[in-house]
Amino acid sequence: MIDHIISAGTVEAIKKYIQDSERVVIMAHRNPDGDAVGSTTALMLFLKSLGKDAHVVIPNAFPDFLKWLPQAEEIVSYEDNKEQAQALLGSADILFCLDFNALSRLAEMGGYVASLSAPRILVDHHPFPEEGFVQSVSEPQACSTAELVFRLIYRIGGLQAITRDMAECIYTGMMTDTGCFAYASNRKDIYIIISHLIAAGIDKDIIYRKVFYNYTLNRLKLSGFVMYDKLKLYPNSNAALITLTYKEMRRFCAAKGDTEGLVNMPLQIKGVRFSCFLREEVPGKINVSLRSVDDFPCNKVAAEFFGGGGHLNASGGEVYGTMEYAVERFKAALVKYKELLTQ
Ligand code: 5GP
Ligand code: MN
Repeated sequence: MIDHIISAGTVEAIKKYIQDSERVVIMAHRNPDGDAVGSTTALMLFLKSLGKDAHVVIPNAFPDFLKWLPQAEEIVSYEDNKEQAQALLGSADILFCLDFNALSRLAEMGGYVASLSAPRILVDHHPFPEEGFVQSVSEPQACSTAELVFRLIYRIGGLQAITRDMAECIYTGMMTDTGCFAYASNRKDIYIIISHLIAAGIDKDIIYRKVFYNYTLNRLKLSGFVMYDKLKLYPNSNAALITLTYKEMRRFCAAKGDTEGLVNMPLQIKGVRFSCFLREEVPGKINVSLRSVDDFPCNKVAAEFFGGGGHLNASGGEVYGTMEYAVERFKAALVKYKELLTQ
């Protein structure tokens, strides 16, 4: 049995919104990851199966290793197709917000979405949602938004509503957001849900290979370079830092997604509890990825030092300025959190 974590009232209310709508747009955060793409495509497939005119619109393009997902080719990128994205968003009866809980996570698209009067429904697992949703499924205990989409479909349509395509999208979201069930993955329900996804026809081993054995030679060379030359340990703080400049990214022809997962690797070093990856994706703008183990709150570091947020053990933000400045911010965070890091 799967424990019900979404209240019956919320399920009923969301069901009614769906029933009363014709056109639905599902959104996820900028720089979408496996959970953002998997959860939105799964919900799109379900809504289509109910006869709805459902679309996924995301702020910018998603990485190549997710291109194989069922109906991923239908996803509209706001940055690349603004007119089409605005037309879809503007004519939607309801808007689903998946895997983010603040419009600021939509970058420029957020301003347009804020101007729309269509009701917004939240389905997400990040803490501290902002106001403004007519219904919310906000469950930080969930391993992924994809898990919550499974729960929602299951509660609305029963297990028989979950097709193999939906199951592939859901599994991809759950797998990628837990580092292949290496963190945030101790709840028994996760494995009960996976057993249902396998019953729906997924091949989890093939999904693993499609997502993780899909690197380019450049990506492997880039990770070799990063581990050899760009990883710095701060043993007195149990921390590690990787920096990658715009010039270095260009040298390895780094494409979208090529740096995904590199931030986790320093956590393999004995004693390291906190890992920070600073990458200059465009000159003057540094993207920040943070990871931690146990109860070290990297989302607090993200909020205080990098204008971002996220989960306890996986969070992010950004810095406008030079790499040197971003490294200073990281060092300042180590000073402030030294006690927590070394206890
Ligand atoms: P990643 O390092 O994979 O880009 O992000 C890790 C986690 O942090 C994800 O769950 C993502 O949603 C969250 N995150 C990344 N950047 C930001 C940000 O700027 N603001 C907030 N609130 N969360 C972020
Ligand atoms: Mn997620």
